[in-house]
Amino acid sequence: MRKILIIEDEKSIAELQRDYLEINGFKVEIANDGKAGLDLAVNNEYDLIILDLMLPEIDGFPICKEVRKHKDVSIMMVSTRVEDIDKIRGLGLGADDYMTKPLSPQELVARVKSHIQRYERLTSKKETNEEDYIKIRDLRLELKSRRVYVNAKEAILTNKEFDVLLLLAENPNVVFSKDKLFDRIWGYDSFGEISTVAVHIRRIREKIEADPSNPEYIETIWGVGYRFMKV
Ligand code: CA
Repeated sequence: MRKILIIEDEKSIAELQRDYLEINGFKVEIANDGKAGLDLAVNNEYDLIILDLMLPEIDGFPICKEVRKHKDVSIMMVSTRVEDIDKIRGLGLGADDYMTKPLSPQELVARVKSHIQRYERLTSKKETNEEDYIKIRDLRLELKSRRVYVNAKEAILTNKEFDVLLLLAENPNVVFSKDKLFDRIWGYDSFGEISTVAVHIRRIREKIEADPSNPEYIETIWGVGYRFMKV
């Protein structure tokens, strides 16, 4: 069952959202302030987090930023003020979606379902792959378990990092621009910043490259993008 965390200080709103989501088959937990929400978000596995912007203790901006450091979970930010949306965008916090309040429960459920289905599409596509793994030199990607090994030692990648690495490794010697990677991994309707691509590449290199500043797997093609080196 898909698990959702609602971080929302207005209890009646949180409970209404929970009821609708539960009717639609989701398991829901609620945190009524920012601190409790952040604790739950970083210490548990959720499929999606609905994050209110204005919260007691810690507001939604730092929560989003902090959760992103630890988890690769979909985050939908909710605010009463339309102008906050520009701020969310400008800060490049890595939220996947945003909504303004008041929002109808039907719309909320529809958005939650679309996010989760998109995630399932990404993962199920990989399960139908004919090969169980991709091995290139010392790097091994196991497709079903989505694990990565370097010299038989496991490298722990987030979901998005794995998706980026897999896309590149499945298409060796093909140059992907940042825009193309962003569209393929984060999706056209996703809410985010192109700069997140470079951040993910850097993190992947730190995890799989012997010398991240002199990468042997993911090569930077200056002014163009990235490519996975097969030879
Ligand atoms: Ca609030």
